[in-house]
Amino acid sequence: QDFKTMRFLLSAPHLSALPSDGAPEIAFAGRSNAGKSSAINTLCQQKALARTSKTPGRTQAINFFDNGYLRFADLPGYGFARVPPKVKAQWGALIEGYLAKRDALAGIVLIMDARRPLLDFDQQMIHWGGEYGLSFHLLLTKADKLSRNQQVNTLREAEKAVEGASVSLFSATKGLGVDDARAAIGALLPD
Ligand code: GDP
Repeated sequence: QDFKTMRFLLSAPHLSALPSDGAPEIAFAGRSNAGKSSAINTLCQQKALARTSKTPGRTQAINFFDNGYLRFADLPGYGFARVPPKVKAQWGALIEGYLAKRDALAGIVLIMDARRPLLDFDQQMIHWGGEYGLSFHLLLTKADKLSRNQQVNTLREAEKAVEGASVSLFSATKGLGVDDARAAIGALLPD
């Protein structure tokens, strides 16, 4: 899999703004600051693909990227403590609505900081994914921050915690696990 030709398609702040289903779609989810933008940019070999589309005030939008035969949906991050309840509710409605109705959605890449995986946000995503029968790949990023032993333990724990999900270690800064991640994304796609 080579995602170099991925280009920004559009930013959907509401369910009504979603593009119609097209190529098979992979959704990227993760807590704010988990390293989701960095992972998308690294996977696509582009410096600012995920970041450039993050226009201020649009952080609650789903950003779509497309290369003609595959689509990435960058789901809004979550986790900053001081988000007003109304915004949290809107965020939940957008994400759950998206997961519930997206026919082209082939799977979810859940990006987690390898030092603190499977927090509340992550559990919520896994719960919703289970409800809608979606497959997961768990991407444990910032793996460069862990020792080899810690990496192995985190990997094992994540594998045990989420039935049926694939798991891999990743580092955007060190370029670690990039090919594994690409292969795992490929495995989520229909034959
Ligand atoms: P997002 O909010 O999930 O999109 O997170 P970003 O990709 O913007 O990354 C959040 C912070 O973590 C930034 O300061 C990044 O430089 C840093 N970061 C992202 N990926 C890695 C990684 O693999 N290793 C390390 N050490 N830092 C990373």
